[in-house]
Amino acid sequence: MPDCLFCRILKKEIPSKPAFEDDSVYAFHDINPQAPIHILIITKKHIDGVAELAPADEGLAGRLIVRAKQIAESLELKNYRLVFNSGSEAGQSVFHIHLHLLSGRRLHWPPG
Ligand code: AMP
Ligand code: ZN
Repeated sequence: MPDCLFCRILKKEIPSKPAFEDDSVYAFHDINPQAPIHILIITKKHIDGVAELAPADEGLAGRLIVRAKQIAESLELKNYRLVFNSGSEAGQSVFHIHLHLLSGRRLHWPPG
């Protein structure tokens, strides 16, 4: 997806501040953080979002969550929130699947 913002970040055409990387997942700091810690965990494979996950993506989707948990552990976070926004009215603005990891402040519920 040449015009996809996060594919361009993966190709390093757009700079990002890395937090974690393996063969199928990349994590980097959100440019507009909504909490003291705000990291995005993305798949290296382009998938538009949660709604576009195929059954064959099950392992990859699970890996996003497990990697988020490991990043949280590495940062010694005791409390955090993981968020997938799916669809523009739910707040999705980048259509390359990503998991938000938010921490470092009290997080209220329900979210806005
Ligand atoms: P969402 O609104 O759920 O699609 O999340 C997209 C996130 O990407 C937002 O929190 C943005 O602040 C973040 N974002 C957009 N552009 C960049 C960028 N160049 N580097 C890091 N994060 C970005
Ligand atoms: Zn993409």
